[in-house]
Amino acid sequence: MTKVILNKKISNRVANGHPWIFSNEINHVKGTVEAASIVDVFTHDDKFVGRGYINPQSQIMVRLLTRNSSEEINEQFFHKRILAAWQYRQKIGYTQNCRLIFGEADLMPALIIDKFNDYFVIQTLSLGMEVWKNAIVDALNEIFKPKGIYERNDVPVRELEGMEQKKGFLSEPFDTNIIINENGLRFLVDIENGQKTGYFLDQQDNRRAIKQIVRGADVLGAFTYTGTFEIHAAHYGAESVLGLDISENAVKQATRNAELNELQHKVTFQAVNAFDVLKQWGKDGRQYDVVMLDPPAFTKSRENIQKALAGYKEINLRGMKLIKPGGFLVTSSCTNLVSPEMFLETINMAAKDAKRKLRQVTFQAQASDHPIIWGIENTNYLKFLIVQVM
Ligand code: SAH
Repeated sequence: MTKVILNKKISNRVANGHPWIFSNEINHVKGTVEAASIVDVFTHDDKFVGRGYINPQSQIMVRLLTRNSSEEINEQFFHKRILAAWQYRQKIGYTQNCRLIFGEADLMPALIIDKFNDYFVIQTLSLGMEVWKNAIVDALNEIFKPKGIYERNDVPVRELEGMEQKKGFLSEPFDTNIIINENGLRFLVDIENGQKTGYFLDQQDNRRAIKQIVRGADVLGAFTYTGTFEIHAAHYGAESVLGLDISENAVKQATRNAELNELQHKVTFQAVNAFDVLKQWGKDGRQYDVVMLDPPAFTKSRENIQKALAGYKEINLRGMKLIKPGGFLVTSSCTNLVSPEMFLETINMAAKDAKRKLRQVTFQAQASDHPIIWGIENTNYLKFLIVQVM
């Protein structure tokens, strides 16, 4: 097997268990380098570091799959890993829907699998994972006997790995508009054309966190997508709920979901730009008991962090101005590069500008089916904050 020898000084990141090895961390390679093949990684003094797949075209040259030198990478390996990931999700209470594989956090770098009850959506985001797609599909068939498997590989990062973007069935074709149950509610998931894998499972635990504060409240939710937070608010006893999304299609889906749960008398949706209307409604003096914000990621690159933070400050400032004294702000950020500390600091700055005092109700991360691994920073990406706005 091809051996990859690291520089004499190996980074703390790799030493502490991070699975990525960048090309500039490699001293030399013994043997042939074939894209996507399995290689063994050693320190300069020949100590085994791990086994993983290589792609000379990617800046992340090697992604480790195991630190155990006796573990072979073959079909059984994928079966074993997927089964272990499912057992973990069951252990912590997930039964129907969950992120079954969360890449690095499940020791499966660049693999995402979302389980929507009997249906599975897969993303293989690196070449080294792509070549094992059949093994992954076989394992899913063996473990779950699913009704359908779909690949949502229409993601630009694949191009960094020299792969094309694509989507399609990995099982017999099926109706890709499915209905899932979440917290006692029903939601339509469009596996084929929805955002990302079709539905944001990462907020599923957080959606329950609004239960107490929305009772009897007039609620405004911006960046609603399929209307999940808003429909939860209505279900938990809000007086009225208005959800906003810039996409007409999202508003259509959200409206269908409200009907599906027979909550259309309480929840309505509008297709508008939230940045614009929140500003205008602030000027008009509109007031709500609860404002909820869940914008898309504002940046994926380090150069734009300041701009992203300015965006968070602006939207949260506009949101706070719409909240009655003693009302609540429910605010999220899924931008990977914005740390929890940076996010809180930004909300604090917005509060200062709005001349409001905040009282923290809860500060959470993504649902626990997306495990956070200490030392692998990008596994801790979602910030979810509820504050009382005094
Ligand atoms: N809250 C949703 C996820 C929201 S994803 C859930 O829990 O599932 C972010 C949404 O913001 C997308 O649907 C996108 O269409 C919408 N969006 C992006 N820019 C917007 C803008 N300027 N105004 C309103 N909505 C916007």
